[in-house]
Amino acid sequence: MGHGNFPTDVLSKNQKQADVLRCLKQYAQYNPSKSVFVWVKAHQDDSPTFENLLLAAQLNTLVDELAKNTLRAACLNRQFISNLFPFEQVRFSVCNNKIASSPKNAIMAAWADDTAQDVFHNRNIIDRSNFDLIWWASVEITMTSFPKMFQVWWTKEVLPFCGTNRQLSKIDKSVKNVGPSCGRIDELSTHITHCKDKGRVTMLKHLLMNSPH
Ligand SMILES: [Zn+2]
Repeated sequence: MGHGNFPTDVLSKNQKQADVLRCLKQYAQYNPSKSVFVWVKAHQDDSPTFENLLLAAQLNTLVDELAKNTLRAACLNRQFISNLFPFEQVRFSVCNNKIASSPKNAIMAAWADDTAQDVFHNRNIIDRSNFDLIWWASVEITMTSFPKMFQVWWTKEVLPFCGTNRQLSKIDKSVKNVGPSCGRIDELSTHITHCKDKGRVTMLKHLLMNSPH
């Protein structure tokens, strides 16, 4: 509603369905007659009978029904309308998919997908051809249901990679391959829990005692 009544206001960067709203703003600006958008509460037909609803609510119910039927038919026939809207001034695509929300998030997600695909393929964890067969959204939901440190541990197990100074020094020359607490040359992943440095032992005990899991 606000989008139509204030067509010159900028959309927020994470705005959902930004492509449709951008068109709406554009049409509202070009419209030579003054238009006023009014919010109509959805699903008002859930309780009172249709005849007792106000005209706006009745019309809303009717277009809702039309939209649902069209969507069902499209799913059944596998025939969808184009998501390229008329007179669209800006269109943004990443990997041939039209982006309807934050371009920044879309670019980052595509980049992350690409990187993960390469890493998993090159390490024989998941073949490139199977990557898109995995329901990654559910993997993410499952992962976030675990405690943070378990997520970190699991990621390292799968890769398998632990960001010790031994590994980090390979990608960043300013990192020295020594144990950060005791100064031991060559910090292996096993050294993290075996370091005899007094402060490190205290920290490990503290973490183990205070871990909720
Ligand atoms: Zn050490």
